[in-house]
Amino acid sequence: MSGPILAIETSCDDSCAAVLAGDGSVLSNVISSQGIHDRYGGVVPEIAARHHLELLTPAIQSALSDAGLGLGQIERIAVTQGPGLIGALLVGVGQAKAIAAARGLPLVAVDHLQGHIAANFISPEPFEPPFICLIASGGHTLLARVEDHSSFITLGETLDDAAGEAFDKGARMLGLPFPGGPALEALAATGDADAFDFPTARNVKGCDFSFAGVKTALLYAIRDLGEKDAERRRADLAASYQQAIVEALVERLSRALEADGGDRVAIGGGVAANGSLRARVEALGVTSHIPARELCTDNAAMIASAARFLPDCSQQAALTLDAYPSGAQR
Ligand code: AMP
Ligand code: MG
Repeated sequence: MSGPILAIETSCDDSCAAVLAGDGSVLSNVISSQGIHDRYGGVVPEIAARHHLELLTPAIQSALSDAGLGLGQIERIAVTQGPGLIGALLVGVGQAKAIAAARGLPLVAVDHLQGHIAANFISPEPFEPPFICLIASGGHTLLARVEDHSSFITLGETLDDAAGEAFDKGARMLGLPFPGGPALEALAATGDADAFDFPTARNVKGCDFSFAGVKTALLYAIRDLGEKDAERRRADLAASYQQAIVEALVERLSRALEADGGDRVAIGGGVAANGSLRARVEALGVTSHIPARELCTDNAAMIASAARFLPDCSQQAALTLDAYPSGAQR
């Protein structure tokens, strides 16, 4: 077992730093949300990158002080290499390379999606492979077969929007602030989920997802109701819309379990913070693992967790490490 890992995650708009002990327990997990993108209704990549420049160093300092450690006690540096917003990723990668080089520490490059899976490996209740993992976030929606701690096989992914994007865009149509997932969930709590029959893209074969249809259906429902009635029935619209997205996710998860013959599931990504999805997964009747909400949305503890099972970069790679924007280099 190696010593503490300091991890950095800057793939989108949260400046994150965390320290994980060698046994996989979280010593600190700092998430510095930029809180500026809501005025634009979505993340503005260049603004996100510039804010990481301001927020990342204080986040790292807080992570170290929360853990009660100095840099001298850290044994490895881990960083998200991709996928994500390239400018945002480069800030984290640059910072991680600089710390590793200055302190003579090994550097570990982590895939962000592997990080969401590795949120399930965090102590004190690590969930051991094999299992099927649903990752649903602002940028990705996929089903993965996880057979070991360091890799995964993609069983299906979204053909268009990510589930989190569908939450965010639906929330915007309902006049809710960004990020829309938590706001839409809160509004849905007071509505009737069976009031509107929104589509779940059942016709999409296998384990792939599609959320373009449900988004359009919400748009048309609001248009057909007219401004006044749409306003009056906002909670019903939110509840029905959330139910359709959750149903689509759970149905694909069930299909994957059936096709794979497995009986262990885990979830990850920001949408996994959704109470309705968490309840549905727990009710599947198989062994399930659902990380704490703060380990589902983007965070650096999950990046450190993935790094525990990954090799260090070579000395040369640690100096030349580049970020990648999409999953292509995985
Ligand atoms: P991530 O990209 O993993 O940080 O996840 C962010 C995405 O998760 C955004 O699209 C959010 O709207 C979504 N999200 C966060 N919390 C919830 C929630 N409680 N219900 C639904 N979606 C959520
Ligand atoms: Mg994410």
